[in-house]
Amino acid sequence: MHDYEWNGGDLPTFVTHLECSKTGEHYPADQLHGLSKAGRPLLVRYDLDRLSKALSRQALAARPQTMWRYHEMLPVRRPESVVSLGEVVTPLISLPRIAGRLAKGGELLVKDEGRLPTGSFKARGLVMAVSMAKELGVTNMAMPTNGNAGAAMAAYCARAGMKATVFCPDDTPDVNVREIAMQGADVYLVDGLIDDCGKLVAEGEKELGWFNCSTLREPYRIEGKKTMGLELAEQLGWEMPDVIFYPTGGGTGIIGMWKAFAELEAMGWIGSKRPRMVVVQAAGCAPMVKAWEHGEEHAPRWQDAHTFAAGIRVPQAVGDFLILRAVRESGGFAIAVDDEAIARGWREVAAEEGLLLCPEGAATYAAYCAALADGRVKPGERAVLFNCASGLKYPMPPAGTPLKLGSTIDWKRLQG
Ligand SMILES: *Cc1c(COP(=O)(O)O)cnc(C)c1O
Repeated sequence: MHDYEWNGGDLPTFVTHLECSKTGEHYPADQLHGLSKAGRPLLVRYDLDRLSKALSRQALAARPQTMWRYHEMLPVRRPESVVSLGEVVTPLISLPRIAGRLAKGGELLVKDEGRLPTGSFKARGLVMAVSMAKELGVTNMAMPTNGNAGAAMAAYCARAGMKATVFCPDDTPDVNVREIAMQGADVYLVDGLIDDCGKLVAEGEKELGWFNCSTLREPYRIEGKKTMGLELAEQLGWEMPDVIFYPTGGGTGIIGMWKAFAELEAMGWIGSKRPRMVVVQAAGCAPMVKAWEHGEEHAPRWQDAHTFAAGIRVPQAVGDFLILRAVRESGGFAIAVDDEAIARGWREVAAEEGLLLCPEGAATYAAYCAALADGRVKPGERAVLFNCASGLKYPMPPAGTPLKLGSTIDWKRLQG
């Protein structure tokens, strides 16, 4: 167990049951589950009253800075099930220069998830899914991916000694395909989009008995992603920011954070104030934005999805209604930004603040700028952007001026 010691025996977890997110129907804990009978995601429920008596914010403060510091609020029962690679608490990095320029008096913070194992926040969800799968006896996992989720699943499956099979669209960034393979998984390149890959996983599930680890099809990735909300609350002294910008694909993170805030309030750790939750999508793939604008509960499949921000190229999400519910209940909104604005934002934050975001993270910055301009975010507000992966995992624009040794160098020009 990575740098967190329990006092022996099973973990004091407080899971009571699982619940269908659509119908509220109960399902027993400690059994393998996929979707509910209604075909919707299952949510893990806890005895929050008992939990709040067993754990205090003070006790928490003394623990190591890893996501396992919240283990009472997580579903794993046995320490030996945990397949950790060192899931550090990620820093909140302020962007003071940009905030000074754009939002006088406001605070702009980036939760930098690129520091997690495998370089993306998919590690949070997959460490939980794989740990629970191990606990419940799974030996063979499969998933569709745009890259980062597959990499995280491959890594944790390798760690757990399980077999992993991954399907990605054939234009998935090379680095993702290769890291998946390096981490021991079988990886297939499919001439379609992520939901086409999802159909193949569902067939393999029937044919070969793989455990299907697609987004929201098993209950525990949400619990892992929930730790983003727990960390954020704790890092801000149990105060909520005014607004959170989240690059939304399948929506696990926004659903998980919204769940975290509800649980923290039920435990009496935060008040009723909530951040406005902002769904950020790319203009070339914005099903949630369209559904939000039309006041709909579900989002039909987006045709011809395209954007270079691969992590948010998700044409259809099984948890659409949960994403839209969080946006509406929080008084937030959904916003699309085009690839040009994403690329501009990517360069701007890197050059001005020294923080190399991933394109999806840059999308949240572009959305923040647009929302400041149209008044949906006020300059004095505290805003949090999610940078979900290391910028180093993405192909960057070519750069570098050749210099020939022995030739005369015009030093004045180098001075800039
Ligand atoms: C998966 C992913 C997203 C989308 O996250 P969801 O919680 O599935 O909506 C955003 N950015 C990156 C880099 C990702 O890998």
